[in-house]
Amino acid sequence: MNIILFGPPGAGKGTQAEKLVSERGMVQLSTGDMLRAAIAAGTELGMKAKEIIDRGDLVSDDIMVGMINDRMSQDDCKAGVILDGFPRTVAQAEALDAMFAEKNITLAHVIEIKVDEQALFARIENRASETGGERSDDNADVLAKRLKVYHENTAPVLPYYEAKGLLKTVDGMQSIEDVSGDIAKILTS
Ligand code: AMP
Repeated sequence: MNIILFGPPGAGKGTQAEKLVSERGMVQLSTGDMLRAAIAAGTELGMKAKEIIDRGDLVSDDIMVGMINDRMSQDDCKAGVILDGFPRTVAQAEALDAMFAEKNITLAHVIEIKVDEQALFARIENRASETGGERSDDNADVLAKRLKVYHENTAPVLPYYEAKGLLKTVDGMQSIEDVSGDIAKILTS
């Protein structure tokens, strides 16, 4: 089963994806993690991406679609994936449709984790202190920019999937366990 976890930065997509990986053996494809790995490896792409990520902008659609296409071609993805952080633009969503059609696979659900945006600032500050400031984009200034980019570029992806009847919404302000309980209900529906 292939699913998308959708929501603004700090909504809990990564946390829920990790639970699905450990509890159901699904494969998580986090484009943010892939970019951070490229940064850590010091690749040319990583160096370019770091600048973009640090100012809260989006990496280009071509790069991101290429990255997901390469990863989806690997054998471990055949049983199904959780897309976490992708697609982030309507162009990426359209490219994903084309990619799935070509690979003859389907998208089962797009699960939006809906959160109160004021609460995100506290969450991101919390994540920054828990991870010792590991993510250079986890601070109030960059979060404000990431939220603006989310509204302008990423939120339009929601009606795209709603029109296809794939969109499901869970209340992301609940406890981690309750959010994953709601996601589990969607996956078995
Ligand atoms: P994340 O870990 O998902 O919050 O992603 C961190 C940053 O990586 C984002 O703020 C973007 O700069 C970049 N990024 C991750 N995924 C994408 C994507 N699908 N399209 C464009 N940029 C992305």
